[in-house]
Amino acid sequence: MSDTAAVPGGATVSDPEGLAARAASLDAADPLAAVRDRFVLDDATVYLDGNSLGALTAGVLPRLADVVTREWGELRIRSWEESGWWTAPERIGDRIAPLVGAAPGQIVVGDSTSVNVFKALVAAVRMAPAGRTEILVDAATFPTDGYIAAAAARLTGHTVRPVPAAEIGAAAGPLTAAALVNHVDYRTGRLHDLAGTTAALHAAGALAVWDLCHSAGALPVALDADGVDLAVGCTYKYLNGGPGSPAYLYVRRELQPRFDSPLPGWNSHAEPFGMAPGYEPAQGAPRGRVGTPEILSLLALDAALDAWDGVTTEGVRAKSLGLTDFFLDCTAVLVPAGRVESVTPAAHAERGSQVSLRCAGAAEVMRELTARGVVGDFRRPDVLRFGFTPLYTRYADALRAARVLADVIEGTA
Ligand SMILES: *Cc1c(COP(=O)(O)O)cnc(C)c1O
Repeated sequence: MSDTAAVPGGATVSDPEGLAARAASLDAADPLAAVRDRFVLDDATVYLDGNSLGALTAGVLPRLADVVTREWGELRIRSWEESGWWTAPERIGDRIAPLVGAAPGQIVVGDSTSVNVFKALVAAVRMAPAGRTEILVDAATFPTDGYIAAAAARLTGHTVRPVPAAEIGAAAGPLTAAALVNHVDYRTGRLHDLAGTTAALHAAGALAVWDLCHSAGALPVALDADGVDLAVGCTYKYLNGGPGSPAYLYVRRELQPRFDSPLPGWNSHAEPFGMAPGYEPAQGAPRGRVGTPEILSLLALDAALDAWDGVTTEGVRAKSLGLTDFFLDCTAVLVPAGRVESVTPAAHAERGSQVSLRCAGAAEVMRELTARGVVGDFRRPDVLRFGFTPLYTRYADALRAARVLADVIEGTA
């Protein structure tokens, strides 16, 4: 067992009791501590899977009850106008905008992430300079992004070249139409250089398409300032929109007039209710729409976003790094040496909001952790993944998770 570990603030702890005192003082000083009350959580479970399915916020149930009983049950079709259903995709997009560094009017919410990856990537290659033949894809990408990129390439007559995310900027050349990159790697938690990679892609004349699934809501993202062309993300992870809540699509304002959707459904028409036989695209963010919006899921997300009132992404980032630092320290002190190895970068500039630990028998270890009330997840072949959602995770939770992990691992020795 290691004796000492650096802790946030530069102090050193040498014993498990020191960790408990440290957790208590970090929680007492946490400016986001009260935000946890906006969520439906209990103390029986330490929930470290908010990077896969965010927790329920307290406002969702009353909001959905009103949407179902009054807006749908009583107003029925009138709600498309009177309850603002029709414009919900853009209105809720504008609520997500500040969380990803976007000015209003550039984000539309609807469809799954997979569908939005398709829209964004096909639209990107259609906007690329003529004569470009390849799409670069983050080699360690979440699988759906890779599958969709391959289909988009086949459809548009391009080839896909997988490249490690950190090398995509350098790999882009005169044949590159666009690149699809994950801001944070879902397995390792590695944070990639969005600004630098985007600038390098632009220098090569290519478009930058970012997947923000594991970064939006966990750390500051600066889509406008960093010149990102298109971006997508889901809303059921760090944005807590609920299972299957719709994803979002960002199209940079200057590119909107050239955004040529591969799925030009009637909702993206300039005059949807003109019911014209010919297609004419809407201006602005609605051009990214396809069909009828998922109103119940959209409005659950709308309510969930209330959890962000008065919260800054910088504050979230500071707590996220505090939590992951502290959890790493706790595991270093408590878990027998050599039994787990972090595959999440130690450097803050390269770390998202999770800690991934490589561990023998990881699937079994996670099953046992879950049975003992510590919920993370397992990613093949040997990774224990712990997501730290700063809005509702406490330092005491990080310590408890490390303690239970140590117990489980000692039990499987
Ligand atoms: C979670 C996640 C998805 C999910 O795609 P869906 O179509 O919403 O199921 C896609 N890409 C990445 C990188 C993800 O982390």
